Amino acid sequence: MEDEPQGPGTELGSYPPTDRWSDWVENDPRAWPKKAERHYRLIPTICFNCEAACGLLAYVDKETGEIGKIEGNPVHPASRGRLCAKGMAIMNQLQSEDRVLYPMKRKGRRGSNQWERTTWDEVLETFGARIRRAIREGRGEEVMYHVGRPGHDGYMERVLQGWGIDGHNSHVNICSAAARLGYFLWQGADRPSPDYANARCILLISAHLEAGHYFNPHAQRIIEAKTAGAKLIVVDPRLSNTASCADSWLAPHPGTEAAVLLAMAKVILDSGRFDAPFMRQWVNWEEYEADGFVARGKTFEEFITALKAHYARYTPEYAERESGVPADAIGQAARDVADAGSRFASHVWRACAAGNLGGWQSARALVLLHALTGSLGTRGGLSPNSWDKFVPEPFKAPPAQEHWNELLYPPEWPLSHHELSQLLPHFLKEGRGRLDVYFTRVFNPVWTYPDGFSWIEVLRDERLVGLHAALTPVWSETAAFADYVLPMGLACERHDIQSQETQAGRWIGFRQPVLRVFRELEHGEKVRCTYEANPGEVWEEDEFWTSLSWHIDPDGSMGIRQWFESQTEPGTPVSVDEYYGHIFDHSVPGLPASAAQEGLTPLQYMRKYGAFEVARDVYSVNETPLSDALVTTQEGDLLSEDGLAVGVLAGGRAVVGYETPSRKLELYSTTMRDWKWPEFALPEYIRSHVGPEALAMAGGATEGPGADGTPLVEWPSHARGEVLALVPTYRLPTLIHSRNNNAKWLFEISHKNPLLMSNADASRLQMGTGDLVKVHTEIGWFVISLWVTEGLKPGVVACSHHLGRWRRDRNEAIERWGSSVVSIEEPEPGKWMLRVKEATQPWVSADPDSQRIWWSDTGVHQNLTFPVHPDPVSGMQCWHQVVKVEKAGGDDRYGDVFVDTALAHQVYLKWKGLSRPAPGPGNLRRPLWFARVARPTPEAYLMRTAGGTPQ
Ligand code: SF4
Repeated sequence: MEDEPQGPGTELGSYPPTDRWSDWVENDPRAWPKKAERHYRLIPTICFNCEAACGLLAYVDKETGEIGKIEGNPVHPASRGRLCAKGMAIMNQLQSEDRVLYPMKRKGRRGSNQWERTTWDEVLETFGARIRRAIREGRGEEVMYHVGRPGHDGYMERVLQGWGIDGHNSHVNICSAAARLGYFLWQGADRPSPDYANARCILLISAHLEAGHYFNPHAQRIIEAKTAGAKLIVVDPRLSNTASCADSWLAPHPGTEAAVLLAMAKVILDSGRFDAPFMRQWVNWEEYEADGFVARGKTFEEFITALKAHYARYTPEYAERESGVPADAIGQAARDVADAGSRFASHVWRACAAGNLGGWQSARALVLLHALTGSLGTRGGLSPNSWDKFVPEPFKAPPAQEHWNELLYPPEWPLSHHELSQLLPHFLKEGRGRLDVYFTRVFNPVWTYPDGFSWIEVLRDERLVGLHAALTPVWSETAAFADYVLPMGLACERHDIQSQETQAGRWIGFRQPVLRVFRELEHGEKVRCTYEANPGEVWEEDEFWTSLSWHIDPDGSMGIRQWFESQTEPGTPVSVDEYYGHIFDHSVPGLPASAAQEGLTPLQYMRKYGAFEVARDVYSVNETPLSDALVTTQEGDLLSEDGLAVGVLAGGRAVVGYETPSRKLELYSTTMRDWKWPEFALPEYIRSHVGPEALAMAGGATEGPGADGTPLVEWPSHARGEVLALVPTYRLPTLIHSRNNNAKWLFEISHKNPLLMSNADASRLQMGTGDLVKVHTEIGWFVISLWVTEGLKPGVVACSHHLGRWRRDRNEAIERWGSSVVSIEEPEPGKWMLRVKEATQPWVSADPDSQRIWWSDTGVHQNLTFPVHPDPVSGMQCWHQVVKVEKAGGDDRYGDVFVDTALAHQVYLKWKGLSRPAPGPGNLRRPLWFARVARPTPEAYLMRTAGGTPQ
């Protein structure tokens, strides 16, 4: 087609053809200049260094039985053979001497960092007995699993529901809760799936978006579209890598992005360049109520008139006053979006959504642009993630649990997306509950979360946390406060199923333990369990959880064992081959047929190729005809079965529509209206806690944005300096949140996180690059050096969030390529001081590179000084901070951190006071149509009194 993008070839030009993967021959580079052939078996697996799940090919040397190198898997439908730097660095992680290789048990007091080796059998006995007792005594909610980086969708929900407990905690509310709520309210799916490759205009609310989230699959498709002529608009206060590639960089003051987006919507509305047929059909305009106008019974044209009137105040000039982005630039961006029409793609994920009070409304405002341009579900547009992410049926699904754990979903945040995990230390301190058994899994809250010293205070207290196991490939600041540290596999050492909404298509990827597969395929060995093939006794969670479940319920009398039992050999635990073989046989459309064509079973096919494309060019799923089998009742356009909305009439045809109560795109949210937030039933602009007015109030102005004029920031007495907004949410594209996992190449590329400040602010404050500055928050301070730049909005400072790792002892194996040795003191209860004793420096090891470390500055740990800021609606940690910045004094040293956790608890209480607690309609804890992790029975949604009866 003439107007199709003609980007660069999407396939790699050269790669090992799949028919030679079982015996691939290359010359050994270490033998150069001689030509010495080496034979490899190429085994596919999936990267684990971010959520994108790119395909890897591990080159296993047939002579040594070791992985020689890692490259991209050319037949993976999303990554298409390409990897980012983090994917390439897996070799460092695999070969690191500092990884955890054996199960370890604490020797001294908790936190003292004294360990001894133990056995997997002892681990299983100890945890099995303790969990069994908790469940038998009706204390199942004292068992909690808390995940940082998940690997396999739905796996742990199945395990915990098999145990019958409500115990799944995650990191979502420090990550993406706000964007999820914004998207969910519109479409009933909490993530977007942009079709970048076919877009004519791409709008990215950046921060670290395409340098982080689905980085490699998205970035390559954005470049394809751009090469084919698409416009790229980036909205970010900071000149990110993404912004530097853009046609247009709009730099708003943080927290004002929704004002800019709504002004763009107004320009499109007023110019008449909206897609009226699409809106009339797919937007729930008949439910619209605002400003005294009720759309029911009115015409579409009357609704449009009312909509224009409602958004009349969001003029580009108003948005300019709020954001600092010139009105002309806003108008031009709106015209670019309108020009693209149905081929407009966009994304906001963390960025402003995750930084600001009310950030969830920026996602809603962004989707409004799609509703206006009819670019939802279209080629080159935006789809719900549920259309493109493939989630197969699990092996044996246990029933929903009957309990509701308020440590996970507390009543104050009934609309949260999802668990209020950042508040766990405060909940435990408040006496809302205790943890008898706590599993942290690839999760490092002491370092990653805000308010890390409050985490230390509860993790060291055995009355609050009875038994803590850290499931992790590496040592971390949090593992140091565990009772057991249990080594779990990296990308090449474990089984998982992965699928992400990286493009307009569906695929499934298979992560597998490469050395186990090598021994089985190359030598015909039967490996009993994965830790026998991995380095040391590194295990994988699939087998760990199955074994633990058998230890909890050894005779099957608790009804738990059945969910982890083989179907082909009853009375024995299900093996990984049976588990995945069952899924691939029964739940992946097209896979059995494709496998059969090659004379393979579906499991053999996935072991050979590592990925399978389920569908491509997935668009307009909302127009899928409703199954004739459904017996429906009709009310207006809405079609229901047994009181449950299942479809909608579109142009006289019964189709499935969207996953919302109206089965349409919900511009007007009756849920927001009915759950105590009627003022936010529509996409609106909420002034942020770091917006211009909030900064003015924090600087002493007496009028402000709070509903009652109360400033959210109260300064401790030591806080002095210039009031600025701190943006701490971006990441460098070569680093992996809190788990570089000893990737030396990545630390060599990126190892310091200076505080960025605009030239305008720096010259006004007479500060310059390299100056040591003290940054005060509401609960403490940190000391850092300055980097002056033109690439930042004045009034803002910014600091990348994944540096400043620390260890308390020189020989502690926490990221020694990029961590400082620190002292941590608590001279008074709740007053914590961290000071750098020794910068990163070379050390002697079997890896000669450890003596070649040329860098010493490994950054400053800012997150410790941030209090929790739970958004009252989404529950999102609002990461941005109002800070005071002053020149450091004579006693201040680079890397100093001071925190008062009593102040941190006060800030928690203040933000909790902004919430509007459940119950909602029907005495519910949460709207029944809202997604929930490990969803309990409908009865559990009812709020109950202490006596167990509904309130
Ligand atoms: S984007 Fe990079 S880190 Fe993420 S999965 Fe792909 S290769 Fe791995």
